[in-house]
Amino acid sequence: MLLKPDLVVSSAHELSPALLKEYGIRAVMVDLDDTLVAANAETLKPNYRHWIKSLQQAQIPVLMLSNGKRERVKRWSQELGIIGLPLVGKPFTFAFRKGLKLLGTKAAETAMIGDQLFTDVLGANLIGVMSILVTPLSAGKLLHTRAARKLEEIILRGGNHGSSVHR
Ligand SMILES: [Mg+2]
Repeated sequence: MLLKPDLVVSSAHELSPALLKEYGIRAVMVDLDDTLVAANAETLKPNYRHWIKSLQQAQIPVLMLSNGKRERVKRWSQELGIIGLPLVGKPFTFAFRKGLKLLGTKAAETAMIGDQLFTDVLGANLIGVMSILVTPLSAGKLLHTRAARKLEEIILRGGNHGSSVHR
């Protein structure tokens, strides 16, 4: 099922280098809004900064793959010391291909971590990247985001959603 995440966790920072390596993951693509920073907030929790550092120290490169605006993606990717691709066009496969090319890894050894089924999970599943769903950091400021959240809830309730490390 294309909308089924391979793994569900509550926060991205739970995904330790050791856990990712267990799944054969060598590089990570991560969403920005509501995955690393709440869409309605301007602050980054220290947990996320430490998490990204820990991945980099474990030689797991991190790339920010975002549909967000240029300035916002630039700001946060610079602050975190990672490359950020804005307006990238998830869930289309070209967005993920772009990411894989930059990371230099194959789809199967790469993970996409994000809070949305219809962009992050769907796109990752279409190209064979491991899809990891996190709980969104905010309820979403845009009406269409909120509508999508409702649908996501219904879909997640309806089926078995991936194996979960924290329940
Ligand atoms: Mg998001």
